[in-house]
Amino acid sequence: MTIKHGSDTFLREKSWRIVMYIFRIFHKLSPYFHYPVVGPLLKRLADLEPEAHTQGYTLNLNVSLTKSAQGVVMPIDMMKQAVAHSTYRAIMNKCLCRSAYSCKNFPLDHACLFLGEGARKIVKEGSGREASVTEAIAHIYRGAELGLVGQALWIEVERFLLGIKREKDVAHWLEMCFCCPCCCGTFKLQKATNQKDIKDRFKSIGWKAVINEELCIKCEKCIEKCPIKVISSKNSSININEQECLGCGLCASGCPKEAIKLELQAPLLKTVEDYFTNSGLKINM
Ligand code: SF4
Ligand code: SF4
Ligand code: SF4
Repeated sequence: MTIKHGSDTFLREKSWRIVMYIFRIFHKLSPYFHYPVVGPLLKRLADLEPEAHTQGYTLNLNVSLTKSAQGVVMPIDMMKQAVAHSTYRAIMNKCLCRSAYSCKNFPLDHACLFLGEGARKIVKEGSGREASVTEAIAHIYRGAELGLVGQALWIEVERFLLGIKREKDVAHWLEMCFCCPCCCGTFKLQKATNQKDIKDRFKSIGWKAVINEELCIKCEKCIEKCPIKVISSKNSSININEQECLGCGLCASGCPKEAIKLELQAPLLKTVEDYFTNSGLKINM
């Protein structure tokens, strides 16, 4: 299929500084989503209004953390399957979030992988390179080795970056991200806002972190590690907000006593695309 791309220049090298600047301002303003006037305006600018489809699903790439669920498809396999389904693949030259914050902990060049026809614009504008299925899968494994968190994202406002103009073309891409707890924009957004409608857009695909009280020594390292701050300490007990936990596994991999396990608490859907279809967006890449 052919997508009508527009002629905007947001993806070109010289526009990156502007995009980075907007990005940082947006994160700074995220705690104000619930304010009258400013909040609705911000939501409108960021395409986070109720009718917008922006959403994301965490795909924990650390196979050792999810091995307790043997017999089910691993998130890394779901990501690979999505790559195999796609008609086109592009890897961005630089991770937008890590570039915006000059990340010191993870490489800037391990960036988002865009799948589907919408991704052609990235290559056309020189902001990324085309990837074969094999190259895209190698990119996923490198993300896992680096300890990054996988996310499947469909961010409505990115249709401007991709220059997709026609309404009927908007669902022809999906973004596979390799996110760091320090810079990722969606983690920052979830941490900063208290708006349930925004938090609910980003979910676990089924895994949740669970603490074994008997092993826990209350060192609180997991509280520091959680990228969206859903672990808290109260009356010398460590609690995880199960509803909001993304199952990213960063708390479990940082626990010195192996007191946190990821448990699969909801049946997995067949494909990554199915999660989006369930929320009303029919991805077709
Ligand atoms: S969402 Fe993840 S991979 Fe994509 S730009 Fe942000 S940190 Fe980088
Ligand atoms: S990191 Fe592990 S031991 Fe430390 S408080 Fe968290 S669960 Fe307990
Ligand atoms: S509680 Fe653990 S698994 Fe859940 S979001 Fe926080 S770090 Fe990730």
